Amino acid sequence: MADHKVLAGAHVVLPTGTVENGRVIVDGDRIAGSAPEGAPTVDLTGHWLVPGFVDMHNHGGGGASFTSGTVDEVLKGVHTHRLHGATTVVASFVTGETDFLARRAGLLSELAEQGDLAGLHFEGPFISPCRKGAHDETLLRDPDPAEVRKLIDAARGQARMVTLATELPGGLDSVRLLAEHGVIAAIGHTDATYEQTRAAIDAGATVATHLYNAMPALGHRAPGPIAALLEDERITVELINDGTHLHPAALELAFHHAGPERVAFITDAMDAAGFGDGRYMLGPLAVDVKDSVARLVEGGSIAGSTLTLDRAFKRAATVDGLPVEAVVQAISANPARLLGMYDRVGSLEPGKDADIVVLDAGFELRGVMRKGEWIVDPTAGTAA
Ligand SMILES: [Zn+2]
Repeated sequence: MADHKVLAGAHVVLPTGTVENGRVIVDGDRIAGSAPEGAPTVDLTGHWLVPGFVDMHNHGGGGASFTSGTVDEVLKGVHTHRLHGATTVVASFVTGETDFLARRAGLLSELAEQGDLAGLHFEGPFISPCRKGAHDETLLRDPDPAEVRKLIDAARGQARMVTLATELPGGLDSVRLLAEHGVIAAIGHTDATYEQTRAAIDAGATVATHLYNAMPALGHRAPGPIAALLEDERITVELINDGTHLHPAALELAFHHAGPERVAFITDAMDAAGFGDGRYMLGPLAVDVKDSVARLVEGGSIAGSTLTLDRAFKRAATVDGLPVEAVVQAISANPARLLGMYDRVGSLEPGKDADIVVLDAGFELRGVMRKGEWIVDPTAGTAA
């Protein structure tokens, strides 16, 4: 059987735990349960085999923007993130005019139908001017269920998530509408109180957009959204683990409180990810990237990240000292479940897509396989 490959000798991270000196069998584009005698073997002794990473919040990379780039540029951005282990990527849009966002959604929905993207995420325009971050304030609007509906219709079944400030007028009705349509309502860029956040969770919100960032800080008399989001089992919290957006102690607090089954590592990456320092545009706003940190030219707000998920993994397993199994949950399994794709990706189980990341003993990325094809070949050590 020429289509079989056996990846052998590695620490294989499965949902049930890590198997030492384990193997993963690939048959064509899928993971298989067994291999025929004499199938070619790739020796990965001393390496880790983990499921391909799933990035549910990502604005671009490789110099390309998902909000404004051409189809070819978007594909280049997706490829850049694949080279860093993210075999499944959702394209996130920053705030724009509704008609512009609807046109972008129509264009990129085709890439999602082809399987190049795992769907679309609208971050804004329904966010709080008090917590606007790197979104153009003049384009922000209160959530309006009719407008929300227009955007998800424009995405032709490929809308996966809408981030909104649920405390604004129309916020809770918009959350209900999203939940009814099977689109994740994510609480973010919000100025909500603790009580308002609880009301949004009761209305059907299930994700916290980059917890801690673009929301009120935890206070002992006014606990705000962070306490409400961390304590509720219906919520998964996104974390940007780049060492800039979060202090390690804040990450540890979230992991400890929510547990590894309720954390999703995201990049929130912008064009400079996997590309380099310089001047970029994030939607209509100019951003300077210096020493890999992206900030608005006007005002200096952090403007997305230049993170790739291989760096987030390494940081989590080394600096943060998290168990590898917990990192895999947060970087692959949990986002795959939220996106409704866990039957195909998010774990190394027979029948699923052969989306596999190879890490060395120091958690440096050495290989990436997507649907059975090496994108980064661990034996060549070079990118295709
Ligand atoms: Zn974002």
